[in-house]
Amino acid sequence: MSDLYGSYAELAVCETEGVHYRIRMIERDSPIVVVAPHGGSIEAGTSQTAALIAGEDFSLYCFEGLVSGRRLHITSARFDEPRGVALVEASEIAIAIHGRADRGDHRTVWMGGLHHALRDAIGMSLERAGFKTSLDHHMQGKAPGNICNRGRMRAGVQLELPMSLRNSFFNDVLARQAFVSAVRATIIPKTDVVPPTASTVAITRSSFGFHPRGDR
Ligand SMILES: [Zn+2]
Repeated sequence: MSDLYGSYAELAVCETEGVHYRIRMIERDSPIVVVAPHGGSIEAGTSQTAALIAGEDFSLYCFEGLVSGRRLHITSARFDEPRGVALVEASEIAIAIHGRADRGDHRTVWMGGLHHALRDAIGMSLERAGFKTSLDHHMQGKAPGNICNRGRMRAGVQLELPMSLRNSFFNDVLARQAFVSAVRATIIPKTDVVPPTASTVAITRSSFGFHPRGDR
């Protein structure tokens, strides 16, 4: 599937910010930025998952489609929206949250990106939490220009979540929290890890609107 637009400049000629897409970003005093370059309706559930992983600790960038379909999809190696690139380039490491089609496997998270140590640490943490991960796929995120690899370390991590898993997160708060906690556990200094509670789930839900309607 090829993209309609090969760059943000091309997209911006035809699409209107605030009407067809929006950008949500929060810059925090953190070496890590969590990004969802295909958020909103483009790859449903990815921006909400990215925001929960960022929590109140990490920077966040979401490019969110507001219209149905995937015409706003700019592939990761070409994703060059300037505000997102600037935030990533000002950070040490980017962790990108993506959505893939199930392709007969509705469970496995495809891990990628050039930061192999962090990639594998996140993968092992997810496996320990009961999720399935794999490196054996065709979305390796190896391109230096991939948005996940444009932090100062020139190496980041890419997670491709199957559609069924993302859809389950809309209804299954515990599964979503287990996933988010597993990723966060690898990037938060151990002394700072706070077990998720009902109140933190409620706060993050209401502040970022993880609702089943409207953006899938
Ligand atoms: Zn994507």
